[in-house]
Amino acid sequence: MAGIKYLFKSSFNEEPLKNNQLRKLNLKQFIVRELYQHANLSIHNLSRTIKMSTPTITRALEELISEGLVTEIGIGESTGGRRPSIYGLNPLSRFVIGIDIERYFIRIGLFNFANQPVSEIHELNTGLETQSDIIGFITEKISELIEAYGIDENNILGIGISLPGLIDMRTGLSYTYLNTGKPVAKILSERTSLPVFIEQDTRAMAWGEQSFGLARDLKNVLCLNIGSGIGLSMILDGKIYMGHSGYSGEFGHIQIEPNGQLCHCGKIGCIETVASGKVMLAKAKKDIAEGAITQISSMIGGDLSKLNIRTILNAAREGDQYAIDLLAKIGEALGKGLATLIHLFNPELIIIGGEISKAADYLIAPIESNLNIYSIARIRRDAVIVASELSDNARLMGTVALVMNKIFA
Ligand SMILES: [Zn+2]
Repeated sequence: MAGIKYLFKSSFNEEPLKNNQLRKLNLKQFIVRELYQHANLSIHNLSRTIKMSTPTITRALEELISEGLVTEIGIGESTGGRRPSIYGLNPLSRFVIGIDIERYFIRIGLFNFANQPVSEIHELNTGLETQSDIIGFITEKISELIEAYGIDENNILGIGISLPGLIDMRTGLSYTYLNTGKPVAKILSERTSLPVFIEQDTRAMAWGEQSFGLARDLKNVLCLNIGSGIGLSMILDGKIYMGHSGYSGEFGHIQIEPNGQLCHCGKIGCIETVASGKVMLAKAKKDIAEGAITQISSMIGGDLSKLNIRTILNAAREGDQYAIDLLAKIGEALGKGLATLIHLFNPELIIIGGEISKAADYLIAPIESNLNIYSIARIRRDAVIVASELSDNARLMGTVALVMNKIFA
């Protein structure tokens, strides 16, 4: 299994392992994976799913306990005989660092083996559009985080990165941002001496929703990541869909207005020219400069340079009609675009996430109304539209799921 070296680093420092040692490590990794996925289990449970004898499982568990990875957490219900001991992972034995890199901000957090944040989520007000040396900046923040929480680097399973734009998942090369001709994960791994795994930001959201959010246990889900741009990820038949090279989900660049605005991708009238945070912000700046009546003006003290997406969302939540109208325009464009997706994929759930999902109440009604207009009723009825419960944390949590998935692959 791929992640065996990450879980049991100490076993790989000296001589090459013999086959029986590898088999034993494999078994221990199976146990750790079972405990990660199903939390608390008895020896009987483990022996049944891993299909190994009780004494073999017991011996491996004893080793995992002495190594600090597993702990006895209590006594379970009796199924006839003696009540069994229940085992679980020691949450503080291994850690994952999650990093969500976006255009105007970066979020970083340290998570334990139970996927819980050990550190506060650090939100840094700089991103791909404002920070010239992103890799250097992140490397520094990672060291600060590890030092601040006194974590032994040997116990860090890996770093998960969420990055927007086009990333070729076969080569790991990023083309929209950090395009240096070398995979971002490789560069960061060399700088930090830790395993690094990267995912495109909207698919990172899908990882988060599938592992910890509303898509858990569902098979066909569309995740919309609406921030300064728009991204789409698809969970189809229970799997996160990649496409041939990882470029799937460029929903924002479907044309909906043939006579519309020029998009940054070079095409005309893409959904992103009507329905993204970036465009909403630009429109608000222009309208307010031209005297639009809205309480946003007083919220920014008349200083348009202070206007950001968050101010508009806050104004909408306070009932500002202008801000609500701006969001409704986004919802209408999304609804029209989503109608096509519903016809193609017949999803059971559509999750609205990303920064703008904080005002999802004002998006969902216009989305639904346009879906009703542009899609076939029978297919439309299958799809429930909801705001993400993880909201902006979905991508960050997704990077944790990504690392764990790679380790246990
Ligand atoms: Zn475009």
